[in-house]
Amino acid sequence: MKLRRISTAVAAAATLALVATGCGGGGDKGKDGDKIVIGIKFDQPGLGLKTQDGKYTGFDVDVARYVAKELGYPEDKIEFKQAPSAERENLISNGDVKFVAGTYSITDKRKARVDFAGPYFLAHQDLLVRADDTSITKATDLNNKKLCSVTGSTSAQNVKEKLAPEADLQTLGGYSECLNGLQNKTVDALTTDDSILAGYAAQKEHQGKFKLAGLKLSDENYGIGLKKGDKDLQGKINKALEKMKSDGSWEKAVKEHFGPANYKYEPAPEITEKG
Ligand code: GLU
Repeated sequence: MKLRRISTAVAAAATLALVATGCGGGGDKGKDGDKIVIGIKFDQPGLGLKTQDGKYTGFDVDVARYVAKELGYPEDKIEFKQAPSAERENLISNGDVKFVAGTYSITDKRKARVDFAGPYFLAHQDLLVRADDTSITKATDLNNKKLCSVTGSTSAQNVKEKLAPEADLQTLGGYSECLNGLQNKTVDALTTDDSILAGYAAQKEHQGKFKLAGLKLSDENYGIGLKKGDKDLQGKINKALEKMKSDGSWEKAVKEHFGPANYKYEPAPEITEKG
């Protein structure tokens, strides 16, 4: 009798532990045991970059780490997963990641599939051209020019729908692929957020090769993408973002990551994505 009671208690405790770590929930791959899986960009210097030695660095990475810590996951419990622009909604809704912090603009179209916390940053769409190019200074100059952007991005959609519908637009999987094209002259311009473009232009191996047009073609409010309907997580992440601003960590991170690229960042935006 006594033995049975003990084993029941043990089983109950084990069940509780499983539920607490998320293992008992079934299918929540974004929270694998005591780890948290977070989607970021791997090829965007200043924002989300996986370095040669396998480390992760950038403003989005700092935001992701800060939020994870506030959710109870220290650095060694974070697993970063690459989240290409076109895959972000899938990764979130499939439960492959708990959240995405990867230059992820809040849009109504995306909100049909995922929810956002934030925003935590405001960028603007711009153009990157070769340093010696004087033929592209405004969006309409792109018509009949070879332009590169990324599949599933707001930048590509804006070009097609309004900025330069006649541009010869090529969409690739990541912006670093577009950059190769700009370098070897298979494309004339690369378009996406100025925050991303500034990071590429400032890279040591690119210095003096490219310039930003300096156009504010759109407002891109970066949010943290999360599973649709998870109001609890949305509230917790918003709280973490507020704290990151009020304790000075936000300012420290923008200075550290955008300072070297001489990128004039906007002040931290107000949080709008609330339950
Ligand atoms: N912020 C824009 C977007 O969410 C462009 C950058 C990106 O592709 O991540 O689509």
